[in-house]
Amino acid sequence: MRLASVVLDDGPEAAVVSGDEVMVLSEVDRSLPTDVSTILAGGDEMLDRVRTAASNGGPRRALADVQLTAPVRPGKFLAIGLNYADHVAETGADTPEFPTVFAKMPSCVVGPYDEVQRPRASAQVDYEGELGIVIGRRCHDISRDEAPDVIAGYTVVNDVSVRDYQHRTSQWVLGKSFDTHGPIGPWIVTADELDPHTLELRTLVNGEVRQQSNTSNLIFDCYAIVELLSSVCTLEPGDVIATGTPGGVGSPTKSWLKDGDTVRVEIDGIGAIENPVVEQPAPGSVR
Ligand code: ZN
Repeated sequence: MRLASVVLDDGPEAAVVSGDEVMVLSEVDRSLPTDVSTILAGGDEMLDRVRTAASNGGPRRALADVQLTAPVRPGKFLAIGLNYADHVAETGADTPEFPTVFAKMPSCVVGPYDEVQRPRASAQVDYEGELGIVIGRRCHDISRDEAPDVIAGYTVVNDVSVRDYQHRTSQWVLGKSFDTHGPIGPWIVTADELDPHTLELRTLVNGEVRQQSNTSNLIFDCYAIVELLSSVCTLEPGDVIATGTPGGVGSPTKSWLKDGDTVRVEIDGIGAIENPVVEQPAPGSVR
């Protein structure tokens, strides 16, 4: 099942995407939650209710006619650095023996086709196409074997990075957290529908393939990541974990994103996000 968030007149609403059609859940069954995080928090029972409601039929809209926003607004947006061997090599780092974990501030999250702003403060804006894990159950200290049970599904992430800010100190959080630098979507594919460790991933800039890999190449896989993170902090429904990016980022050749560029991240079995790069608006404006 593909769980999405669509923007209607009164705000975002939870929806199920099927082929090129969208079913807004409140239009099918008014007792269903209107946001995806609440659906995820309801566990398998709620997912079954949503599946049943979607299969019972009801009003549908054309996917092309609705605006998708980020499928969840994560409480925590964590990320793994240096998690593909070819990316480790291109950065000149040593292969990590322990996952490199950092945080992106959740305020950077935008929808699957929203604009990514190039900050006035830097020209060194880079892309990182990644598989995103979406947590479905509140959990703490779970084992690797239990990890699949707490993962609701998977989504596509562009971990947009401002390299000079990222490397100005040993802490990456500022370089990873500029507003609009966390496009996710276009939806969440529930975990029952795919094996997260067999997925082809591509990043294209203006149609040119820059990154191409498979999630089978992850150094620390999704379940190991969830085991580690949950041993430290309670994970909650809607939390998103970006699992790392393969080789081919722009920084080794200083191929920075420019105003007018379009970045597309595709993961087979999930879908694609595509974001235009624009100049940051004038100071003082609020997005
Ligand atoms: Zn990344």
